[in-house]
Amino acid sequence: MPLVVVPTPIGNLEDITLRALRVLTEADLVACEDTRRTGRLLAHHGIKRPLMAYHEHNEERLAPELAERAHAESVALVSDAGTPLVSDPGYRLVRACIEAGVAVEVLPGPSAAVTALVASGLPADEFVFLGFLPRKGRERGELLERVGREAATFVIYESPHRLAKTLAQLPPEAPVAVCRELTKLHEEVFRGTAAEAKVRYAEGVRGEIVLVVRGGAEAEEPGFEEVVERARRYVAEGESPSRAAARAAKESDRKRSEIYERLVSC
Ligand code: SAM
Repeated sequence: MPLVVVPTPIGNLEDITLRALRVLTEADLVACEDTRRTGRLLAHHGIKRPLMAYHEHNEERLAPELAERAHAESVALVSDAGTPLVSDPGYRLVRACIEAGVAVEVLPGPSAAVTALVASGLPADEFVFLGFLPRKGRERGELLERVGREAATFVIYESPHRLAKTLAQLPPEAPVAVCRELTKLHEEVFRGTAAEAKVRYAEGVRGEIVLVVRGGAEAEEPGFEEVVERARRYVAEGESPSRAAARAAKESDRKRSEIYERLVSC
C-alpha cells in the first residue's frame, strides 16, 4: 500500500479534489496535525475515518511506526491546511516510507505558497521559497540580504506580527505582494513597493499572510535620471551642486561631470 500525501484547503472548503476525497474515504488511517480540525473537514464531506495525531512534537517517534503500517494499510497524510511537508510536518514520514520501500503517492492540491506566487503578479518562472524566516539573528539578516541581491521572486510565509519588521528590512523600492487570507472571505492582495506596503500595514494587520518579494532591487543600477534626481535631493538638503554631483557619482557608475552639467542646466 502507498502512503498518500493529501493537500487540503487553505481556506475555502471547496478547494479539495475528487481524488483527495476518494483517498480520504478509502484510507485505513488518516495521519493529521490536529485531529479536531481534520475531523471537521472530513465531517464536512461526510467522511468518517480513524485519525492519528502526527505533528512536529511526535513525528520523529511516529514516522517509522506509520511507515511500517503503510506496508499493509492505506495511510493518508494531511496537515492542518495546504500541502503537507511545505512548512508543515511530513518530511520524516516520507523519508521513512522511502527507506522502508513503501511507495509514496502525492496528490497535487492547494498550497498558500504557489497561490500567492501566482496572485503576486511578479515573475513566476524562477522563484525561491523561504518558508518562515528566522525571527532574528545572523541567518535572518543573511536571507534578507540575499533577497536584496538576487534577481528572483522570493516567497515567504509571514506572521502578521512580524510583517512590518520584515518590510522595513527589505530594500524600499523592492516590488512586493502581500497576500492575505487567500481563498477566504477577506482575501486581499496588496501590490506595490516594500516602502508602500510598510505604510499600508503600519497600523498592524491580521490573518494569514504570504509575502512575495521580487529580489535584486539593490543590485539594479539606477538610470541616469534617477542619479541626477538623487543629486538634486542633496542640493535641496543643502549641499553645493558640485558636492552633490560628486556624491551621486560615487554612489553610482555615472561621471561626476555629466551629473553636474545636467544639475546646473535645469
Ligand atoms: N503547508 C501549508 C501550505 O502548503 O500552504 C502551509 C503551512 S504553514 C504552517 C502556514 C502558513 O502558510 C501561514 O502562516 C501563512 O503564512 C501561509 N498561509 C496558509 N494559508 C494561507 C492563506 N489562506 N492565505 C495566506 N497565507 C496562508
